[in-house]
Amino acid sequence: MKNVLSVQSHVVHGYVGGRAATFPLQFLGWDVDNINTVNFSNHTGYGFVRGSAVTASDMSALFHGLVDVKCQYDAIISGYIPSAELIDILSGNVVSLKTNNSSSIYVCDPVMGDQGHLYVDDACVEAYRKLLSMGYVDIITPNQFELELLSGFKITNEKELREATEHLHKTCNIKHIVITSLGSEFSFSNKNDPDSIYCAVSSKDALNMTYYKIPVIKSYFTGVGDLFTALLLDKFYNNPENIGLAVNQVLTIMADVLKLTHKLGLEEFCKYKKIAIPEEGDILEGKMNDADSMRF
Ligand code: PLP
Repeated sequence: MKNVLSVQSHVVHGYVGGRAATFPLQFLGWDVDNINTVNFSNHTGYGFVRGSAVTASDMSALFHGLVDVKCQYDAIISGYIPSAELIDILSGNVVSLKTNNSSSIYVCDPVMGDQGHLYVDDACVEAYRKLLSMGYVDIITPNQFELELLSGFKITNEKELREATEHLHKTCNIKHIVITSLGSEFSFSNKNDPDSIYCAVSSKDALNMTYYKIPVIKSYFTGVGDLFTALLLDKFYNNPENIGLAVNQVLTIMADVLKLTHKLGLEEFCKYKKIAIPEEGDILEGKMNDADSMRF
């Protein structure tokens, strides 16, 4: 059985971090070992959260324990890590795990923020740069904002995106950079479509980048990046020669999951509010920190 070490957040309520990644990986036949980076009541997007991050000494102890029991992994994935200190501990341990098993794949999701807004400590940016520069990351899955932070390049168009990814391929030896979403301010040389967002793949030594057009579902989702990274690990592991196909397969699954989540969430919301399910195109008002709209 293939096994993965998953270093992610844990939330009691909701589906982000390990709660979004573990079950799909298990369902796909992976034996998943978890290191929880935080133990939170809920996703930080609620604006209020209870619980705490693991301490640096606890996280080190867990990694030491894995060495004691001689764990080896076919893959490592990492997601939400709230402090530079914890990222540094992960970096050191990824180096030893990959040195002990050179065929192991490391997929790093540098969860830091979105659309110009950082939701981890800002020292994390430098810690991730250091982690990348060690040369052990096979795939990284930043969104546009995270790629800007890591590369130090402002990205507004295809040319600048290419420059940013080239910089990381060259300086950090990363095989594949999968930009999970390009923001609405990103401009293509051909015409933009306001009803679509884009995902892009850049591979070391490949001449061109591949772009994927994704129809927007007007709703609010969480844990999307976490599920994306987990599925990408699986698809890439099964066919490491074709990252383009792996991303395509992941996006196809994601589209179905999001459509279904939206439909079920809307039904649940309307039942709770005792209102009729709206027609397609209608907009339901609801704020992120409105306890009613947060029931699901
Ligand atoms: N809060 C926690 C605890 C998380 O684990 C994550 C993502 O993993 C986020 C917030 C950010 O989630 P999203 O990407 O859905 O905004």
